[in-house]
Order: sequence, then C-alpha cells, then structure tokens
Amino acid sequence: MVRTTHAAASLVIAALFALAAPTVPLSATQRAEGAWLLAPDAARPGDPVFATWFGLEPGFSGELRLLAADGSAKARARSFALPGRPQDFAFALGLADTLAPGAYRLELLALPDAFPLAEKAIAVLPRDFRISTVRLTAAASAARDDPDPRREEQAVRYQRALGNFDQAGVHAPELLHSPDFAWPLAGIRVTARFGDRRRYLSPAGKPAGESAHYGIDFGASTGTPVLSPGPGKVVLSEFRVLTGNTVILEHLPGVYSIFMHMDSLGVATGDSKLRGEALGTVGSTGFSTGPHLHWELRVNGTACDPEALVRKP
Ligand SMILES: [Zn+2]
Repeated sequence: MVRTTHAAASLVIAALFALAAPTVPLSATQRAEGAWLLAPDAARPGDPVFATWFGLEPGFSGELRLLAADGSAKARARSFALPGRPQDFAFALGLADTLAPGAYRLELLALPDAFPLAEKAIAVLPRDFRISTVRLTAAASAARDDPDPRREEQAVRYQRALGNFDQAGVHAPELLHSPDFAWPLAGIRVTARFGDRRRYLSPAGKPAGESAHYGIDFGASTGTPVLSPGPGKVVLSEFRVLTGNTVILEHLPGVYSIFMHMDSLGVATGDSKLRGEALGTVGSTGFSTGPHLHWELRVNGTACDPEALVRKP
C-alpha cells in the first residue's frame, strides 16, 4: 500500500471540507429545484465525513448510511437540523480506521420507514498506520488489569455520554464548512498519532495483546493548560481509573472530543467553552506512563482522527 504523504493528506482533507458545505447562500432557484445532498467525493479511514441535505420539510428525520459494494452499512448517522435553517439537515459519519479502501455509496433514508431519498458515490482512499511494539511496565500492566470496582459505573457513564445524540447540541456548526479547530495546546509535540497500531509485551516480554491508538498524544509538562480546540459543551468531567482526569466535550450531535490523563480539571458538566478556553492542565493520571495529553474524537460512536478538525495553516 502506498503511504499517503502528510501534505497530500492535508490537501485531501481540505478538499473534503471544501465540498462538505456551500460557501455561498443558496439561491431561490436552488431552493426551487428541491432537495439535494452535498457530501465529499472521497475520504480516508478515520475521517469524519460531514454531509448536508438542503430543502427538506422542517421536522425531517433521516439517516445517512455508508454502504459497501455488497450493500452492507459500514457507518450510520442521524440527521440534525441546522440552527436558523429549518429546511437544512446535517449528518456526521465516522469512518472507522479499519474501513477497507474502495468504492462506497452514501444513502440518505427518511425515517421512520427507511424510504430511500438519494444516494451518492464516495471513494474510501487507502491509509497506512504506524506499527509499534510497547513493552508494559509492571505498574502499567497492573493498571490495565486493576479490578477497581469504580471502573464499571465509570464505563456506563462514559458510554452513555458518548452514545447520546442531542438534536440541540449544535455548538460548532462551522465544522460542517471547514476544519476550523485549533490544537489543544499552545505548543504541540505529537508523540503518537491516531490509528497507530500497538503490539503490547508484558514486563516479562510475552505478547500481551494489540490495540489501535484512538487519539493523538501530545508530550507536555505537567500543569500546561489544555485548551478547548473548538466550541463545545462539557458533558463529562471526572476522574476515571483508566483515563485519569477526563473531559468530554460535545461539538455537534454525536460528535465528541475526549481529553484524558489531565492533572487537574478546570470545567464542570454543563459548561460551554469556546475555542482556546482552558479545560484543565496536562498530567499523567490513570493508565499513563508520563505527562501527556490524549485527545480523542468520537463521531456517532466511531473513533476518528481529531487532526481532521484542525485548521491547516
Ligand atoms: Zn494516547
């Protein structure tokens, strides 16, 4: 497989966002011609895909599906109305890092009877991920296997927060037009990327499982301010056994940023934050081997690459 260069990937992402929404208001003629779907022609595994459907009946409820050649659905997203535009609806699809490259279709269905309204071709491009081997320290190994009774209730609360789909949660509508987020630290040093494959070894050197890294890690010293990358509402802010001090921000219905391993929490559930506002500080709490920030993005339950939201210079 050919490794896409970083510059080429950035161009692809910029093109995707350029196609994802119009930059000019819709004309009366376009309105009169009725509804149509605007979505990118191509995306990569791990990309969030934003699509907009114009000119539907106010109160519409629908679902956008990513269909493989065999007709199976590989991603789904529910519709949400855009503020002040009751006939226009958006969708945020999360493309899994494991999605095979190839030809796919986006299909728009009206709910509740799943009536097909439109479809559009979309190509999923190849993407390679870095592979590394990680030898666990005894402490990290113990943390992974820690039967702390708090873990179960924390997992329920965490999954409930990420599984929520609040039609009113449109805090960052600009994302539908272009990737306009900032990095969550003033100075960034990336130590691990989205999708990195990790093969774990036990402290004794035995195979101890594999995983994909579903966030971006930034090296930074303890106490460095963590900044909100874009507008959002805090839906969880608490200490968790595995992920340490953790903040979840809702950006769009079903679209969440997660910040892990923080030293201190500076926000409470229900707070609204704008880009650049402080969420807390960098630390090494939870299952962590040193001070760093882990930023993760979930799109309708699928882990996606947060870097896809960051404005390119
Ligand atoms: Zn990480």
